[in-house]
Parts: sequence; C-alpha cells; structure tokens
Amino acid sequence: MPKHIASGLKYLAAVKLKEVGKTHQEIANELSVDRSTISHYLNGSNLSWNSIEVARTITELSPRDFLTMVFAIIKEPEESRKIVNICRVRNYEAIIEDSCIGCGLCVNVCMMKAIKLESLHAHADSIQCCGCQLCSDECPTNSIKILEI
Ligand code: SF4
Ligand code: SF4
Repeated sequence: MPKHIASGLKYLAAVKLKEVGKTHQEIANELSVDRSTISHYLNGSNLSWNSIEVARTITELSPRDFLTMVFAIIKEPEESRKIVNICRVRNYEAIIEDSCIGCGLCVNVCMMKAIKLESLHAHADSIQCCGCQLCSDECPTNSIKILEI
C-alpha cells in the first residue's frame, strides 16, 4: 500500500507542476520518474483513485504530520523534500530573531534543510519551509517564529 500512496503523492505533484506550465519531461526530471510514467499519471492511468484520495488526505494533514508521512512513505529524503515542497497547501515565513545563540539545534532538526548556520546565527530559507515547527519547538531561546503567509 505505501508504494501506491507514493504514486498518489507523485501524481498530485505532477498535476501541480503541470499547472505551472512544466512539460512532461521537466516533471519527470523533477520527480525522478521516467517520462512515460508521468504521461500515464497525467492521463489518469496506472493509478487507483483510492491512492490519489489517500495522498490528497495526507497533504491536508497538519504540516508536521504531512512532512512525517511523506518521509515515511517516499523514504528517500531528497525526493521527500521535493514532494513536500510541491504538494504543500500553505506557505510559511520562518523568522529567526536576534536572540539566536547559534547552537545549531534547529539546523539539525529541520527535515526540509531550510535552516543554515552562518557566523553563529541561524538563517532560514522560507521557500523551503513547510511550517512543521520542529525547529521552534527545539530552540532553547525561543528565537524562531513560523508564520503562515
Ligand atoms: S518549520 Fe522549521 S523545521 Fe519545519 S521546515 Fe520550516 S524551518 Fe524547517
Ligand atoms: S535553535 Fe534557536 S538558538 Fe539555536 S541556532 Fe536555532 S534559532 Fe538559534
């Protein structure tokens, strides 16, 4: 079953990428799937609607549950990050305040690799942020604010 749900998630990602004008080849490259599979997905073949509905339900979970589920189903971290980024239904701004002491705990915990440490201060890339709040829960100085935008 997880394999079918993984296909359902990739189908949803393919549809989103098509909506922003990507070609079948570009979608295939982005999702690390061969081009004919993408064409089958987008023609509605090779997939049960059940898999798609389960995948859609996963995208509507809380950001943390969505992230955790995608990583558990897709298994490969880089691929999982792509699916989360393409399929997430909300956008977030991650703000790191001056009270950051540069401990790096947020960097370690961020599964989206959205935070880097530079000159003993954390910097977040909001484009990569899925709003899971794992970082703000971990921060000892309460320096991270995650805002839905
Ligand atoms: S909320 Fe924090 S841990 Fe989650 S993706 Fe955004 S920056 Fe990373
Ligand atoms: S966990 Fe908090 S204090 Fe530590 S680097 Fe991240 S933002 Fe700074």
